[in-house]
Amino acid sequence: NTEYIRKPEWLKTKINTNESYTGLKKLMREKGLNTVCEEARCPNIHECWSERKTATFMILGDICTRACRFCAVKTGLPNELDWNEPARVAESVKIMGLKHVVVTAVARDDLNDGGAAVFAETVRAIRRDVPGCTIEILPSDMKGDYESLRNLMSSGPDIFNHNIETVRRLTPRVRARATYDRSLQLLKRVKEIAPTTPTKSSLMVGLGETKEEIIQAMDDLRAHDVDIMTIGQYLQPTKKHLTVERYYHPDEFAELKDIAMTKGFSHCEAGPLVRSSYHADEQVSQASAQ
Ligand code: SF4
Ligand code: SF4
Repeated sequence: NTEYIRKPEWLKTKINTNESYTGLKKLMREKGLNTVCEEARCPNIHECWSERKTATFMILGDICTRACRFCAVKTGLPNELDWNEPARVAESVKIMGLKHVVVTAVARDDLNDGGAAVFAETVRAIRRDVPGCTIEILPSDMKGDYESLRNLMSSGPDIFNHNIETVRRLTPRVRARATYDRSLQLLKRVKEIAPTTPTKSSLMVGLGETKEEIIQAMDDLRAHDVDIMTIGQYLQPTKKHLTVERYYHPDEFAELKDIAMTKGFSHCEAGPLVRSSYHADEQVSQASAQ
């Protein structure tokens, strides 16, 4: 399908760039750090960085060993592992005055531990330097290596997030190097390692899935004890990426959220611009209030 459907009005947002935003961008370059907020040109960046005091750092370099067909991150030979990165992330979290931080990473299939040791050190460094900040981690599936997962979980994150991204049928097309079941198993395993840590997963819609398949994905997540779900519109980052099959109306997202809540999720965020880390600060407070 090479025909492009027009973007509906509700997706036409302007990125609000003010002085504090420019300053923070500069800070990222000085520290040699990458954020998903910038890389993905996230439309929520002003709200997140300036108002909500949330940001998503991408660690372990900016080159991924995988090439998922929805994702704008570069692929290729990865960067050298940088043991000073954890301290620089923690310092930036402090300077930015973040209340909630999401730490994600490129998939490092070249490393035996998938990068778990540096990842865990990043969580510990933030905890040490910015004790009031809640920490959400969003790792890759680490090739299903549970020893690496245990190492990562020993750092004590507040939320564990791992995205299934799409429904079962479309997974081979959308994330060729991952599997739907491996991601579900990973989420379930986290609950066994740390039963009180809320788990979370996200779905992008607009890739050709049916409503029944979305509902099945909700059931699958609940069957693996996932607590929080987010659902957002897939947007094609470049012409080389998968095309958008359909734009969902905000009312349809509202309906999906209602369905998710009947399935027993403690929290569901659903909307055209919802991203995995959107309003994550609310989710952690709700999860810990339970
Ligand atoms: Fe960054 Fe996530 Fe907020 Fe977007 S929604 S600006 S990626 S924290
Ligand atoms: Fe993008 Fe993550 Fe896939 Fe790498 S593993 S291509 S960073 S979605």
